Amino acid sequence: MSKTQQLFDKIQSGNALWPDFADFLNLESKDLEIFFSLAQNITKRNFGNILKIYNPTNKFPAISITGSNCALECEHCNKKYLKGMKQILDNNDLELFLRELSRKNGVGALISGGSDLDGSVPLYNFLDTIKKVKRETNLIINTHTGLLKEDTADKLAEANVDIVSFDINMDEEVVKDIYHLDVHLDEFKRAIDLMKRYNLNIVPHICVGLWYGKLNKELESIKFIKENLRDPSLIVVIVLIPPKNSKIKFDTPQPDMIAKVIAMIRFLFPMTEISLGCMRPRGRIKIEVEKKALKAGITRIEIPSRDTMKWWQKENPEIQFKFYSACCAIPEKYEKRAESKPSDIKRYLNIIN
Ligand code: SF4
Repeated sequence: MSKTQQLFDKIQSGNALWPDFADFLNLESKDLEIFFSLAQNITKRNFGNILKIYNPTNKFPAISITGSNCALECEHCNKKYLKGMKQILDNNDLELFLRELSRKNGVGALISGGSDLDGSVPLYNFLDTIKKVKRETNLIINTHTGLLKEDTADKLAEANVDIVSFDINMDEEVVKDIYHLDVHLDEFKRAIDLMKRYNLNIVPHICVGLWYGKLNKELESIKFIKENLRDPSLIVVIVLIPPKNSKIKFDTPQPDMIAKVIAMIRFLFPMTEISLGCMRPRGRIKIEVEKKALKAGITRIEIPSRDTMKWWQKENPEIQFKFYSACCAIPEKYEKRAESKPSDIKRYLNIIN
């Protein structure tokens, strides 16, 4: 029996160990098809033949509470993503904006921002406002906290925020050289333990390819999730977009490499939804990344291309698409509230009709 077949049998029977998953990540593209079929079967068995599509639009805006400021200036972002967010720097403006959003039938907001030097997003001073808005509206609030402190965890819980989107990275080199963060990896565990203590809904995000566009310690990050969060309801996979203005040279993460990480998550977390999130390479490679992610067993995707959806319908004629005007991390209990109206998804209508 070939080594690939032996590995497949171990994974299929649930007997694979961490070194086996390391071998899986080293497989060549030609050997992946049977693994992708297995991943898709697990997805269909546990979640039905449904693809959830997230299209935040202006119903779920992203807000930066630090404007375009960030003390870390990470290599892969360097404040670029902050500049694309709605910049709101004080509590009055935040309250007015969120109330207006709610009045106009908005679904929710992502509240994010640049980091302080310790890797935390300075959310603390905004949490009384968020608490008030959460109490008086139906908005779903997703937050980026970074490596938060206890007072922030406590207040996030008190404010009743719905989601903490939290990037897990167990690669010392990435933390130091790409995030520019001078902390020990234990800080991630400390932050997760805190959030667990305050019962926050942690949605772990894994960014594939942060190590110069190649795989490096993704396996360790996934192991960290298994050991510290067991079986979260959702894991979001995002992908490095090679920055244009960095002195560091990054490759573009390749579709098979991304799909291997997704399939590995599917094997290790069969009851966990997997989303292909918003940060991922666009341009020519976009469709290939989306197709491979579907083959590898995702259940959610943020703004897929129409061509990918048409292709998936051909591959999988029974597939059902569901549309939500929200971030891809919203909990299942809010799906009804976040369902898209036909006017929100005009670009997709001729595919589903
Ligand atoms: S990856 Fe998903 S949850 Fe995270 S910010 Fe993007 S759309 Fe929102």
